[in-house]
Amino acid sequence: MTIGIWVLGDQLWLGQAALKSYQDNRSQVPVLLIESAEFARQRPYHRQKLVLVWSAMRHFAEELRAEGWSVTYEIAEDFLTPLYHWLKTQGISHLQVMTPGDRPFEAWLRSLSLPCELTLLPNNHFLWSKEDFAAWAGDRKRLLLEDFYRAGRKRWQILMADDQPVGGRWNFDQDNRKPAKKHLSPPMPLSFPPDGITQQVIERVKQLNLPGHGQLSGFQWGVSRQDARQGLQYFIDVGLSQFGTYQDAMVMGQKTLWHSLISPYLNLGLLAPLEVIEAVTNAFATQNISLNNVEGFIRQVLGWREYMQGLYQWVDEDYGQSNWFNHDFPLPEFYWQSSQAKMNCLTTVLKQVEQTGYAHHIQRLMILSNFALIVGVNPQQLQEWFHAAFIDAYDWVMQTNVLGMGQFADGGLLASKPYASSANYINKMSDYCQQCPYNPKARTGKDACPFNYFYWDFLARHQEKLQHTGRMGLILANLKRIDPTEMSAMQKLAEDWRQAHVGPCP
Ligand code: FAD
Ligand code: SF4
Repeated sequence: MTIGIWVLGDQLWLGQAALKSYQDNRSQVPVLLIESAEFARQRPYHRQKLVLVWSAMRHFAEELRAEGWSVTYEIAEDFLTPLYHWLKTQGISHLQVMTPGDRPFEAWLRSLSLPCELTLLPNNHFLWSKEDFAAWAGDRKRLLLEDFYRAGRKRWQILMADDQPVGGRWNFDQDNRKPAKKHLSPPMPLSFPPDGITQQVIERVKQLNLPGHGQLSGFQWGVSRQDARQGLQYFIDVGLSQFGTYQDAMVMGQKTLWHSLISPYLNLGLLAPLEVIEAVTNAFATQNISLNNVEGFIRQVLGWREYMQGLYQWVDEDYGQSNWFNHDFPLPEFYWQSSQAKMNCLTTVLKQVEQTGYAHHIQRLMILSNFALIVGVNPQQLQEWFHAAFIDAYDWVMQTNVLGMGQFADGGLLASKPYASSANYINKMSDYCQQCPYNPKARTGKDACPFNYFYWDFLARHQEKLQHTGRMGLILANLKRIDPTEMSAMQKLAEDWRQAHVGPCP
């Protein structure tokens, strides 16, 4: 029996299930990595994401060789030609692959008629396995993040004193999420100038001329485990102490604030979730960092990240088609072309995404996704755009975040109410409105902010459905108090805007 391991592009970790199983026989177990141009043609990706993934794969191949593995690295048109060739030349009878994080890729793998046996080993990139999550979900009526997060804190004994949370509270949200203040001075994001390998990948991406989004120039992401570790340490040194406090703030000219920028590394396997959690809790134990900031961060990685992937694996295959509001408006073209958006908040965030492939959570949720929700954009089109635009996008993290959290397209499986807001929230949490041609206080009239009239139009259109959703009572009562003439004026503005923005997406 000859075993071979195929390492996929987001499984770049020596401890991943397939490599871990054979580490003692590493010199006898051939390993394959394939860069497929055809895969990159199937849908648009951010150009910097292609560079990140391929460069990280090439760096990982070097790391594997240095560890004594025998590695074949194929730069190819498709996956199957080099895979079949390698299986044949290496005489492989048993192919081992760690189960892909994305369900469509897993289904594709399982559908192949390979000339050998295929074993998919359980994916160990997450703390909660599919089975663990299913056992936790059991027959609960609601799958609440808070319950899941507390179960994770207890299970891994993170920030716990025996069976009680350190500091006596599970949640420090009331100390966090402060609005943007004048004169904030967040740290500069750590940048990694492209090395020789990354420059070769940049050239390849240029030459392939793939359908893509965003700028290729200005690539500054880390591409190896060493870079990712450095990025994590930099965050602990300069970002963690204010992470929670300004987690939801948005400031012109400040793309990253105190955020960690580690999602691309976690999602590729360059960092493991438990090592991130332990590094942060160790810093809390040894340095003077306040609990609200540490807990706020642990909640993201141990709570939200695990919860989102657990749910993705748990829901039915057709979750990706969810569209509870039956929204069908086409995604406005300016999502692909930031310069066409007149609204300062959207222009700023869209431009930033073009430049870096990155926006922080509140920019994604309360600007990009919120606007699409209140306009009534088709959730699947929006998800395709998120997939194309972000450096850290994968099916497993997109579906629950974009469809579930952002668009409420699953009717409230994971969110207790839609994340819809008017300009009020944006004006409170950012300084975007100060440089915008629209007036955040105006709901009607020439300078009315589109977030305002679309927000009320959205509530009016869906009030029937929303009145059965737990936390909407107060908001719907406010809707009823709006003068009918003003409501009609807002609905007219919303309709005119839609008329002016109907157009095919590229
Ligand atoms: P930080 O703010 O520093 O948070 C630390 C870490 O917590 C992140 O690196 C991430 O690993 C984890 N995390 C926090 N919230 C979530 C969450 N809701 N889901 C999963 N992980 C979370 N995350 C992605 O990794 N890829 C995506 O494509 C993606 N798309 C999103 C789309 C929408 C509409 C929304 C609302 C959220 C999306 N997220 C996505 C979640 C979150 O916004 C990003 O993980 C985070 O902004 C990444 O930046 P950071 O590393 O600086 O995070
Ligand atoms: Fe955005 Fe409206 Fe504020 Fe302009 S006024 S930045 S469109 S919320």
